[in-house]
Amino acid sequence: MSTPETTEEKTYTGGCHCGAVRYTVRAAIDKVIECNCSICKKAGLLLAFVPAASFTLDAGAEATTDYLFNRMVIHHLFCSTCGIRPYGWGDRPSGRMIAVNVRCLDGVDLDQFERQPFDGASM
Ligand SMILES: [Zn+2]
Repeated sequence: MSTPETTEEKTYTGGCHCGAVRYTVRAAIDKVIECNCSICKKAGLLLAFVPAASFTLDAGAEATTDYLFNRMVIHHLFCSTCGIRPYGWGDRPSGRMIAVNVRCLDGVDLDQFERQPFDGASM
C-alpha cells in the first residue's frame, strides 16, 4: 500500500446506546461515507470502512440482530435492545470490511470528518 498518510491513525472506542455492543477501532479516519440508499438515509448512517483486522468487538457479539436486504451482502447489524446501528460488515474479494458508524464513536466531533456523498440509491 502506497497511500500517503494524511490522517493520523488513532484508537477509537464506540458502541450502541445501551452499552451492550462495544468496540475498538484502530484506524486513520478522515472521510466518511454519507450514503443515500434506503437504509443509510433512514438510519442517518455516517460510515467509515476499515479492514476487519483494525476492528475489535469488545462486547455484544450476541447482542445484535443481522438485517440483510437487496443483494444480501452487507450485514446491517443493529442492537437488539436499543436499536442503534453501531457497525456493519461485508466481505469483499480483498477481505472482510467493517462499516463503522462514526456517529457511535465515543467523544468525536462529527465535523472533523469530511463527508463524501455516495449514491447507493442508484446501485
Ligand atoms: Zn444497545
